[in-house]
Amino acid sequence: MTRKILLIDDDRLQFRLTQAHVRSFQTDLYDLDWASTYEDGIVKLLSGDYAACLLDYQLGERDGLQLIREAVAKGCRTPIVFLTAETADRVDIAAMNAGALDYLVKGEITPRMIERSLRYALKLGDTLEELRRLATRDQLTGLLNRREFDRIIGEECERALRFGHCLGLIMTDIDHFKSINDTHGHPVGDAVLREVARRLATLVRTVDRVARYGGEEFGLILMQTDLASAGDVARRVCAAVASEPVRVNEAIVLNVTVSAGVAVLPVDAKTEQSLVATADKALYTAKQRGRNRAIVFGEI
Ligand code: GH3
Ligand code: MG
Ligand code: MG
Repeated sequence: MTRKILLIDDDRLQFRLTQAHVRSFQTDLYDLDWASTYEDGIVKLLSGDYAACLLDYQLGERDGLQLIREAVAKGCRTPIVFLTAETADRVDIAAMNAGALDYLVKGEITPRMIERSLRYALKLGDTLEELRRLATRDQLTGLLNRREFDRIIGEECERALRFGHCLGLIMTDIDHFKSINDTHGHPVGDAVLREVARRLATLVRTVDRVARYGGEEFGLILMQTDLASAGDVARRVCAAVASEPVRVNEAIVLNVTVSAGVAVLPVDAKTEQSLVATADKALYTAKQRGRNRAIVFGEI
């Protein structure tokens, strides 16, 4: 499989040279694309279309260091190899600190060096991505894990308060889940957890976040969402689980329901702790009132 590599460099000659290097590799692994300005470079880099990026230090008015910092701040995870001139004092170190995975000194570059550096950056990039996934995802369901939930809700509460937005939170918990485990065994319980997680994840918008909060409890963080909309989503959550039985296998088809509690910042709470606590209170009320329902905190 050919992997697309992006070169960001304002010098056409450098592009031609690098292209010749890449084409001289023994294997036909890479396809080199070119961006000649900072603006074009950042757009292409953030597109996620490239397996790795070779980035020049000199880019007209602005420089490659600024570009790395901007890209990283905007969530870029593409491995970057920095290209510096010999004369640029300690820029290599600054580039590595900003997030570059390797650097090459222009003028000393050989085809072999680029090949080794790209291979290394791609490998390290893949490894970092895998580590990130392990650190942030729940293994059973693939949803965000509790640690990531805590981090995101902290950040989003702060952002919502600063910009005067609403932030919705739905806490949802599978009803009588223990009896599924007790009746059919743990592996069937696991399959139900995975299917409920899948339904929750398909319900929300791409900007929203779904996490496994604990055992059979999930948290849905709804960006810029007011009370009425959050209530709607919570009712859809309950309906999406209840409306179609979970088919574990040919022999085991189960009717599963969830209860949901809704709270919205800054209406019901002004901190992340109290947002979770109020949504949890609403969830508890939903359980008490018979389960398979969504309750909004303000209506308790
Ligand atoms: P309620 O309707 O009040 O929520 O009752 P419940 O039975 O769902 O709640 P309870 O808290 O009593 O039971 C939750 C169960 O979830 C107990 C625990 O063994 C099970 N559980 C937690 N994590 C997992 C898991 O990863 N896999 C499986 N199969 N079960 C799990
Ligand atoms: Mg439960
Ligand atoms: Mg529970």
